[in-house]
Amino acid sequence: MAHPAHEETIHLVKEIFRTYLKEHNQRQTPERFMVLEEIYRADGHFDADDIFYRMKEGGTRVSRATVYNTLDVLVECGLVQRQQFGKSQYYYERAYAYQQHDHIICNDCGHVLEFCDPRIGEIQDMLGKLHGMNIESHSLHFYGTCTDEEACKERQNQSGKLSERAEV
Ligand SMILES: [Zn+2]
Ligand SMILES: [Zn+2]
Repeated sequence: MAHPAHEETIHLVKEIFRTYLKEHNQRQTPERFMVLEEIYRADGHFDADDIFYRMKEGGTRVSRATVYNTLDVLVECGLVQRQQFGKSQYYYERAYAYQQHDHIICNDCGHVLEFCDPRIGEIQDMLGKLHGMNIESHSLHFYGTCTDEEACKERQNQSGKLSERAEV
């Protein structure tokens, strides 16, 4: 499930974005499309700074403000989904051609796991019938800690480095 989007998908989302920007009289800058492409080539969840640093390290000149601003536009037009897992920070993930899934989040390192379980869909249907509601979607997050303590510590150290870097 968590793998980069196909080329056709990237081509399609660019077209959707182009149409959206045109209809909303917003500027179609190459930087905005680069941010979109970076997101669709990414795996799973990321915060705005992850994208900013990844693009910077990949040699793309794009300002942090452009990344933040483009993410807002992408959320508005439905190509990117914004999630908040416990803490105040927002996480983003691509929304187009991405399977419906739920999340398990580590409270210590912030690691996000995605899973699909058809039984959750069954619970959704059952609850809808029981309460006389047409349930259209859901958002389900489980919180806990990693059983692999070593990997968890490693991730905690890494995110510490990232936030140090962000303060520079
Ligand atoms: Zn997800
Ligand atoms: Zn962890």
